[in-house]
Amino acid sequence: MQHPANDNPESPSQEGQNPEGHPAAQRALHWALAARARRGEPGVVVVGGGLAGLACAVRLAERGMPALVLEARRRLGGRASSAVDGQSGEEIDNCQHVTLGCCDRYLALLRTLGVLHTFAFSDEQWWRTSEGRLSHLRPSSWLPARTSMLPALLASHFLSPKAKLDLARACAAAAVVEREAMQQQSFAQWLDAHDQGELVREHFWTPLIVSACNATLEATSAASALHVVQGAVLPGPHASRIGLPTTPLRALYDPAREIISRAGGAVVEGAAVSAIDRGACGLVVRVGSTAVRARCVVVATPFEKATGLLASGAFASDPRVEQMRGLSHSPILGLHMRFDRRVMHEPHAVMLGTGVQWAFRKDDAGCVVHGVVSAADAWMNLSGAEIEARALADVRACFPLARVAKLERCRAVKERFATFVPSCSSHAHRARTAHEASPGLLIAGDHTDTGWPATMEGAVRSGEAAARAVVMAFAG
Ligand SMILES: Cc1cc2nc3c(=O)[nH]c(=O)nc-3n(C[C@H](O)[C@H](O)[C@H](O)COP(=O)(O)OP(=O)(O)OC[C@H]3O[C@@H](n4cnc5c(N)ncnc54)[C@H](O)[C@@H]3O)c2cc1C
Repeated sequence: MQHPANDNPESPSQEGQNPEGHPAAQRALHWALAARARRGEPGVVVVGGGLAGLACAVRLAERGMPALVLEARRRLGGRASSAVDGQSGEEIDNCQHVTLGCCDRYLALLRTLGVLHTFAFSDEQWWRTSEGRLSHLRPSSWLPARTSMLPALLASHFLSPKAKLDLARACAAAAVVEREAMQQQSFAQWLDAHDQGELVREHFWTPLIVSACNATLEATSAASALHVVQGAVLPGPHASRIGLPTTPLRALYDPAREIISRAGGAVVEGAAVSAIDRGACGLVVRVGSTAVRARCVVVATPFEKATGLLASGAFASDPRVEQMRGLSHSPILGLHMRFDRRVMHEPHAVMLGTGVQWAFRKDDAGCVVHGVVSAADAWMNLSGAEIEARALADVRACFPLARVAKLERCRAVKERFATFVPSCSSHAHRARTAHEASPGLLIAGDHTDTGWPATMEGAVRSGEAAARAVVMAFAG
């Protein structure tokens, strides 16, 4: 087993964080500014080339509106991206990213980018207990969508008859609850109110909600959790269908660059915005010593970067700045593991009763496995060797084939600032796209008030909302 280099297993996505002054970025920026000057229109600047920023710029491009996307790192995709791993030389995602059938705006963006076909979709689910027992859930083709998983759930090994009854009662209640009224209650309290026993919490609600919301049942608001239940679980397999990219995440974004530049815009990587101000005629975005004029600026960065950019200067009194300060982070751990033989047959598995919560098969042979730990606070201060030992024990518990396999490599990627916590108080701290205090200054990102937990879908929706606000600002 190799682990020495794992002792500081931070995210490879830290690469390129401080690129200011990078000559290639400066050349690209000046070239893009020269092209803008020729058009004679200050236009739109999007700060951040994650999914929110790219969705915004792509939707504007479709309307013939050129945007200049300024991205601090030397790659696109933000928190949903890949980078070359220094240890193995392979391109690895910072973490497995899963999409669901109900994520319709993210799927629509993939379609626009022409990369939807690179995803593998499955209506089937595999659940494994820490005793190594497997339940394979397959929707029945003869029942209506809403009830088609019922026979498989009834036959499953990981829920007792009482837990199945608990689940049925809670689903019936979730179907009729008005989730917006549930902001002040935690999901754990909602489960208490619906008499959910220990087993159904441990073996159903925890894996579902912790992975979708990246927070414990106690830390997640009932409104956020019910959003997941109503959107992804209750409608049936078309909504809960699991979609996994078959290429490194970074490959998904190249077409965005093309679409944006065809509309006359540009994407400049390695361009870290240092300030956003008001100028004599519009807004001014600063990248080092370069000032970029804009009629509209879309700040599509994580919330802590947005507050950093806006808190000093012309926008300090925008109420959204103070509002965003109330959000907090929750970490995620990604585990890239390679075994000397097949350990996994199924494409993915929910792991029950272990610290590692999900496993994804990353090769046909079943030797390369990606593990995910959401709400991973307890793992953040562990060394690479400690993480490896725990992860191996968990995989061996759930996958009997792994008990005789040798772990050849384990690369742990810690994302300490993975997502905001969708707590009872978070609702009040999610910024609106536009605010009358700051005409032309729009905020996008998974943390804004989309109603979704921090997901690719939420990020894309926020970017599309910002694009609509830009169109309105130009029309008005
Ligand atoms: C480990 C992990 C696993 C996840 N798993 C899933 C999953 O399975 N399914 C799912 O739907 N979601 C998942 N998510 C959440 C998802 O990745 C995010 O919600 C989404 O990518 C956020 O997109 P965004 O555009 O809002 O922000 P970001 O992706 O953070 O993009 C913001 C961009 O702004 C740039 N930036 C910051 N400051 C500046 C500056 N000053 N100047 C210029 N640019 C700047 C950043 O470099 C970044 O590229 C996961 C997240 C993590 C971290």
